[in-house]
Parts: sequence; C-alpha cells; structure tokens
Amino acid sequence: MPEYEAVIGLETHIQLNTKSKIFCACSTDSWRAPPNTHICPICTGLPGVLPSLNRRVVEKALIMAAAMNVGEIAPESYLARKNYFYPDLPKGYQISQYDEPLAGNGSFEFPMPDGNLRRISIIKLHIEEDAGKTVYKNSKRLIDFNRCGVPLVEMVTGPDFRSAEEVGQFLIRLRQLLRWLEISDADMERGQLRCDANVSIRERGQQRLNTKTEIKNVNSIANVRDAVQSEIQRQVREVEAGRKIESWTLGWDDDRGALSKMRSKETEADYRYFREPDLLPIQTSSEDWAATVSQLPELPLARRSRFSADYGIPDYDAGVLTEERSLSEFFEAAVAAHGGDPKRVSNWVMNDVLRLIREQDTSAGELGLRPDELAEIIRLVERGTISNSVGKELLTQVQGSDRTPSQIVEEDGLAQVTDFGELSAAAAQILEANPDQVAAYRGGKSGLIGWFVGQMMQESGGQADPKSARKILEQLLEG
Ligand code: ZN
Ligand code: MN
Repeated sequence: MPEYEAVIGLETHIQLNTKSKIFCACSTDSWRAPPNTHICPICTGLPGVLPSLNRRVVEKALIMAAAMNVGEIAPESYLARKNYFYPDLPKGYQISQYDEPLAGNGSFEFPMPDGNLRRISIIKLHIEEDAGKTVYKNSKRLIDFNRCGVPLVEMVTGPDFRSAEEVGQFLIRLRQLLRWLEISDADMERGQLRCDANVSIRERGQQRLNTKTEIKNVNSIANVRDAVQSEIQRQVREVEAGRKIESWTLGWDDDRGALSKMRSKETEADYRYFREPDLLPIQTSSEDWAATVSQLPELPLARRSRFSADYGIPDYDAGVLTEERSLSEFFEAAVAAHGGDPKRVSNWVMNDVLRLIREQDTSAGELGLRPDELAEIIRLVERGTISNSVGKELLTQVQGSDRTPSQIVEEDGLAQVTDFGELSAAAAQILEANPDQVAAYRGGKSGLIGWFVGQMMQESGGQADPKSARKILEQLLEG
C-alpha cells in the first residue's frame, strides 16, 4: 500500500470587531439580539440606497495583513459584487473583493506542540460583508438579516497543511493572534471565526494536486480537526478501493460527528463578479501602510522567544505566559516590580494568578490585582514575613482593595509567627492532645514529624513559620 499525504488549504472568514457594519451605521453586536433588529435599508439592499465604506474595517484588515507578513499592499484595491441567489442575501449579491484584493502574498508562522515551527503561505486577504442567517424551525425557514453587512476578512492559505493536527494548531494560533491584535473576538461558536477546508490526498513524494473536496460550516477547532481527519481517511479508503475522488462539498454534522454531502458548488464563473459601481477603490498610501507595519505590537511568537531569552525562563513557561497579551504584560510588569528571580514570578503567575483568572473567568488585564501588588506579595513571602499559604490568600484579598499587601498583613495580623515562646506553647498543646502519635514518634516513627508540623500549621491558620515549628517540635519530642 503506497504511503499517502494530505494536502489541505483553508479559507477562513474572520469577523472584525468594529462597532458598526461595513457599509452602514447598524450595530454589529447581533449575538443574541432579536432577529432583524440591527438592519436598515442599506444592509438589506432596498432600492436606491448607497453603501459607504467603514474606514475602521480597512484599518483592521491592514493590521491583519501586516501580522501575516504581507510585504506590500496594493495602492488601490477594488470592491466587487459576487452575485448569487440565497434567501439570506437580500441584495442578491455580496460585496466582496475579487481581482484586486486588499493584500496577498503573506505567511503565518506558528509553533506545533512539539516546539517545531510551521510556516503556512497566505495567498490572499480581502474584506467583504457577511450574509444573513437562515434558521430551520418546524420545517420552516426563518431569516435573520442582523448579520448582513457585518465586516469580514476572508483569508485564503496555500495548500500547505499536511495533517489535521496542523490545521488545528493553525486555528488555535490564528485565534490567539486575532485577540492579541484586538481586531476580532474570534469566537468560533459565535461565527466570528469560520473555516472551510479543502482536502485532497496524494502519494507521498508527488507534487501534483488531486481532486479536492471542500468541508464547510464547522463550528469549533476540535470539529475542524475531526472533520479533516475523517475526510483524509475516507479519501484513502476510496483510492485504495480503486474509486475516484469526486469534488464534493461536505458539511459536518455536529450530533453524529460525521461528514455529509451538501449541494454541489457553484464555479467561479457562476458568480458573475464585477466591480462594485457604488464604491470608490480603496486607496492605501505607502505612508499609511508603513505606519500600520511599524505600529504592530510585538507578536506572540516573538514575545515568547524574548521571554525565554531575556528572563531565562523555560520555553514552556514562556509559552503559557504569552498565551494572552494582557497576561504577558502582567508578567513583564511583575518581573520589573519584583526585581528578583523571574522564574519565581513566573511560578506565581502560572500557578496562582492563572488559577484566579480561570476561577473568575476574567483576564489578567481585568483581574483587579496589579503586577506590583503581586511582586510585593512575593517579596513578603521571600522575606519570611508571611507564609506561602498566607501569600496565596492575599492575592484575593488584594483584589479590589485599596490597601497594599503590606498594609493588609500588618492591619489584619497575618505576619508569620516566629516567636519562640508562642510556638513552644502551641507545640506543647499539640503533644499533649496526641499522646498516641507522640508514643509512635518516640518508638521510632520519625516520619510523623510532618504530621505534627501539619497540626501546627492548621492550629495557627497557616501563620506559624514551618521551619521554626519543626525545630521546636523536634526538640520537644526528643526531649
Ligand atoms: Zn444597516
Ligand atoms: Mn468569502
């Protein structure tokens, strides 16, 4: 049996997070809005109306292009009508771009879980409007035009993916980047990031592209991965059985977890593309483009390498800390405020701050705990002023409080008890209350010391200094 490899290209649709739609002033915030409440004559295509292009859409699309390593932007690009009939497309055409798209010739590099980098080529990137939504209910079709005119970036990759796993990682990293750049919320379940996959297979070592199938309408990254994987396997089975791959359009059935055949697809000629007569060309001066490129923030991958290099933290830490932009900024500010070992700060951020973020379903930027407050807590623990466990509790006490960590420690009496007399008295009480354990310890079970220390910590509400407690307990038990 020959060895096969998969050849996969993606067509992604990204909803830009502008306040208003691409050609009118209607709100884009239509998630859960009652149907047909965010519409006007322009986005529903009533006769006699004229669209006008939302400048922010172009700005955000240019940011996207810069992040995709696009070298040059066409000084003029054109909007075009893509004509087709569908009930949720009231104009009878979608305003998109065709022969002169906004940008082309880019690439996106992202890490695979094993740490290796993959680079995928970006063939083109253009802006367009979304169509409406059709809902099937009680064997009726219900149409919601709220999405009509919501701004999208369509981005087409080269046929560069070789596995479903690569496709999944690409989408994870694309989503991360879109949120990092604050140009899209990229929530797949809300349709803000959509992905169609073109899948074909060939014998390994061949160069030609075989007939492909197109997988559409998959609403999560895990499902895209599963759909692509099952389509690769289906194609291998077909070819092995001596059958031809036909150019089908396939849909993913979420409930069954399986692909099914959809309508056959229009060819490009069926769309009768022509330039949009009601809109001027989009002009991008070389100055505007240069400004967009230079204002691009440091991207996740670059920040990740810089974190390992500059702070000497493991690559794993650097990866976790750069998952999200505000978290990476929080870490960096905390390291600067702390001034000590960055790995120690990294441990606190990765274990404790991230746990709070998850528990409270928020982000580092909105946690209500400042990086300098974290640094102060870490220093209090390092100096032995407070125990580790009190330090962890302080994180939530500091949230939203106008007192500093040091003030809380002082005013609430949280400092660690290292006072010899106080600890001795507590230790004596514990020994008295647990004669069996004392006898066992003295009979040779010296491992019980940990249990005694634990009792001390519990009695003191975590405030006893464990080192002093241990020393005092050992003295009493042996004496
Ligand atoms: Zn409108
Ligand atoms: Mn499109």
